[in-house]
Amino acid sequence: MGTATNHDGDAASELGINNMRRKVISGGAVLAGAAMSGCASDGGAAAGVTPTQPFSVAQMVIPIVGSSQQFPVRRIYCVGRNYAAHAREMGSDPTREPPFFFQKPTDAIQYVAPGSTANHPYPSLTKNYHYEIELVAALKSGGKNIPAERALDCVFGYAVGLDMTRRDLQRAMGDQKKPWEIGKSFDRSAPIGPIHPVSMVGHFTKGSISLAVNGTVKQNADLSQMIWSVAEQIAQLSMANELFAGDLIYSGTPENVGPVVVGDLMEGKIAGLPTLSVKVTA
Ligand code: MN
Repeated sequence: MGTATNHDGDAASELGINNMRRKVISGGAVLAGAAMSGCASDGGAAAGVTPTQPFSVAQMVIPIVGSSQQFPVRRIYCVGRNYAAHAREMGSDPTREPPFFFQKPTDAIQYVAPGSTANHPYPSLTKNYHYEIELVAALKSGGKNIPAERALDCVFGYAVGLDMTRRDLQRAMGDQKKPWEIGKSFDRSAPIGPIHPVSMVGHFTKGSISLAVNGTVKQNADLSQMIWSVAEQIAQLSMANELFAGDLIYSGTPENVGPVVVGDLMEGKIAGLPTLSVKVTA
């Protein structure tokens, strides 16, 4: 882009070039300041000027029961194969395998208000769409290498959640030794009810967890059957990643996962929390 063909004249071009040069020259100093304050600025803003953003990105939030406050979601972690019978039905040996984790994007959240039934569009690309009923722990604090004995201090509250799964894609990618993210991490793949603070409901180490489809119970187990408790999940996960307030952990599903089709009504229940009701729509 030569200045000779610029109808706005040389002054504008010069200004652009000067701005670029200033950005490059000042970048080092501003970056040093950014590093000290722990912020991710690229150093583009002049000192004393509050940077603005060209557009806004919505913060995903989940309502908190008994409060006008909402829980801001930072990351969504999920535990794989955390009930022995489910590990076996997925083809692994629960006695020898440590827990593993994966993530969903925060906008996988589909909030479902208690007493309502959410419409849940059947996702693209799959012909084998599975439910997985799960207890969800919501963190108010975090850290690295958190001891299991202190891990529950990080928990703000709990919710009922579904780890919806494009099982055919998950399996096909696994068979090809490719990441099976497309089977797990997609829009609306994480329906969830409101967060219930620990002060209201305590911690969940036992109690029934179940899922019915069109009134027929499909999954039915007890939270005490989790191979790794919520406290142990937090301890293990914090060895891999520093955890923070706003993190959610979907704690794994019991056995008898299975498919739903358009028109099916899923009702997920955990003793002590309201039913999560989701209808699959076209
Ligand atoms: Mn799951």
